[in-house]
Amino acid sequence: MLKFIVLILMLNFVLGCQTNKSTKVEKPPNLIIILTDDQGYGDVGFNGCTDIPTPNIDRIAENGVVFTNGYVSYGVCGPSRAGLITGRYQDRFGFGRNPLFAPNDPNQGLPLTEETLASALDKVGYQTMAIGKWHLGAHKSQRPLNRGFDEFFGFLTGGHKYFPENWTLDDISGVNSQFAAYNTKLLKNDSRINEKEYLTDALSREAVSFVERNTDSPFFLYLAYNAPHTPLQATEKYLERFTHIDNKKRKTYAAMVSSVDDGVGNLLDKLAELDIHENTIVFFLSDNGGPYKTNGSNNNPLREGKGSLYEGGVHVPFAVQWPKNIPQGKRYNQPVISLDIFATAAAYAGANPTNDLDGVNLVPFLTGEEKGIPHEQLFWRKYDAKEYATRKGDMKLLSLKDEQEELYNLDKDISEKNPLESKEDVQKLNDLYKDWLNQMKNPIFLGLMQNEEYNAAHPTRFTIEKY
Ligand code: CA
Repeated sequence: MLKFIVLILMLNFVLGCQTNKSTKVEKPPNLIIILTDDQGYGDVGFNGCTDIPTPNIDRIAENGVVFTNGYVSYGVCGPSRAGLITGRYQDRFGFGRNPLFAPNDPNQGLPLTEETLASALDKVGYQTMAIGKWHLGAHKSQRPLNRGFDEFFGFLTGGHKYFPENWTLDDISGVNSQFAAYNTKLLKNDSRINEKEYLTDALSREAVSFVERNTDSPFFLYLAYNAPHTPLQATEKYLERFTHIDNKKRKTYAAMVSSVDDGVGNLLDKLAELDIHENTIVFFLSDNGGPYKTNGSNNNPLREGKGSLYEGGVHVPFAVQWPKNIPQGKRYNQPVISLDIFATAAAYAGANPTNDLDGVNLVPFLTGEEKGIPHEQLFWRKYDAKEYATRKGDMKLLSLKDEQEELYNLDKDISEKNPLESKEDVQKLNDLYKDWLNQMKNPIFLGLMQNEEYNAAHPTRFTIEKY
């Protein structure tokens, strides 16, 4: 509340400078980002899914806009989240790899030179909370409470077990390998707690609670579910909804998506009940495409999945609602990217981002006020694989292993089945990529793929005090 009063005073001052008329100060919009983990493009009702009903996620599409060409900035979790939370291509600051769980290492995560969306909004009076998966650094300096969030409920690494009986480690002092951190008790701010609920349900419960506690203040809720990322674990309550699915992986995956959907429903109901629904921006997206072989997800009609530069890796289910200011029930077909969330929120919060953003405010494009397109071109780069992709208009150029180039027209061929021959387009897209690459940095830390190399260089990696 105190932050909000400060904000009102600031706004009054700014508006007072602009006009002599008395101006009613409008409350800035609340912002909720619902980020799922490894959910396939085809696994939401609004993209045509039929075997997994997502009636609540679909409400966001009905109340707002579906992005039919919605992208993330990388095909796996960590770099994608680094892009989203900074509004900048993560290669600008050397985050081109999935970070390791290395809580003694201040360089395994988001550089402190980067401002998070939470910091930018916190400075203008927002109450901020991160819930769920963090994965932007486990060192003390990198944790959510030091990166702009007032509150945190969740876990620090790239995934977690879902059942409370699996949380056998009191804290990270018991972690002795990259994936052992999946077994720690959850964190509530800086304290380990004894949570009793199925993880996804607990995250949803905390999201509702945060909204209830902050109705008087503009707020930013970053709700980063780890579902439906592996391990595939679901409760009977959700599994019994999917007796029509025989494939065991797909069935458990479906149950996990359904638990997220219930949580989204509870959250949207709470916004309506508190009468703050109209002026709350709610984004929904997945952090990357579905790894269909491991979690049973479905990216149809897109080619390949998580990790790939084909559409299945980076083209995700993506929708937004803001009943007060954007159209309802619309499909927007121009390419947009997760980097746009920061710029959109900052524009209406009155925030002044510290760094230059790569994203743009999407709202004028959705209302039709702005006639152009949000992005002339988009870029993706996989440093270790020496692969990259560029999209301009409908044309996409991929440079895959061994410098094999493939050109597609995505308007005609969204499944990337029919490579085109056009030396002119290849040259144009390659030139654009080279200009962009000149502004980027190589990775500044070793990642998940270099786990052994990192361990050899850091023998005290898991020598950690109680925390
Ligand atoms: Ca992911």
